[in-house]
Amino acid sequence: MQRNLSRRNKIYIYPSAWKIEYGEIASFLSELTGIPVELRNSFFDTFVIDSEKLAVDFAAARIFDIFSTSCAAVHESYAITAIEKEFITEGKPVYGVLYDAGRVAAALRKWIPKQERRLETQHIVFLDRLIATYDAERYHARMLYCSFPSLISTLGMIQAPARPKEFYILRNSNPNIPEEVLLEQFKEKVLTYDDPRLTEVAKGLTLQTVLWTNGFEPFCKNRSCRLYNAHWQEELITSQMQGKICGKHQKIIRIIKDNQNITNKKQ
Ligand SMILES: [Zn+2]
Repeated sequence: MQRNLSRRNKIYIYPSAWKIEYGEIASFLSELTGIPVELRNSFFDTFVIDSEKLAVDFAAARIFDIFSTSCAAVHESYAITAIEKEFITEGKPVYGVLYDAGRVAAALRKWIPKQERRLETQHIVFLDRLIATYDAERYHARMLYCSFPSLISTLGMIQAPARPKEFYILRNSNPNIPEEVLLEQFKEKVLTYDDPRLTEVAKGLTLQTVLWTNGFEPFCKNRSCRLYNAHWQEELITSQMQGKICGKHQKIIRIIKDNQNITNKKQ
């Protein structure tokens, strides 16, 4: 169930341009797990990155057909690469594009220095891009991708979990209603852009990546636990805003924390 709990951990968080209290997330994680957490600049500003090369990788990670994994690599046109380079250098959110999460993580991993490319050094990258993974014969948008580095998609928090059925009924009956207007109408039950609740939601997601990094299953079946793998916006808001952690996960987090204390003492 667990692996490699014997060496000292460290967590680095890379914020995105979105209004989220990243410092609050760092304190939450370090207090809860005992692991030192450092808030860095955005991933693209922290490391020496060749934006030209990274742009090619981002272009190749674009999903053009949600039913096919083979399409992404063929879209490395000059125009798309140029646009991707602009996105990287300007650090602006990218709307309307879906990226293969595994390919994005692999592309970012290349720019992490060798001394920090170890499982005990955890990297959590917030991206203002929509990421997806392929399963059950199609791509599904995700809030989170546990990997090295782990990815948290800010756009995914808004778009990946399903919204209430009434939302879709209203949208389908009148496709001309702007999304922002619909989101505002349903704001109790859905997350909106620049939503103050995003910080609390992001805390739960970062905690999931910490469990994964330490070899534990990152998701919980208990609907009131912060580690609950929500498929609906309403469930996501409820599980995260209550701020509860179930008994089983409290024990697991204690194991991670105790191990961190032991390794700290040894050093
Ligand atoms: Zn739990």
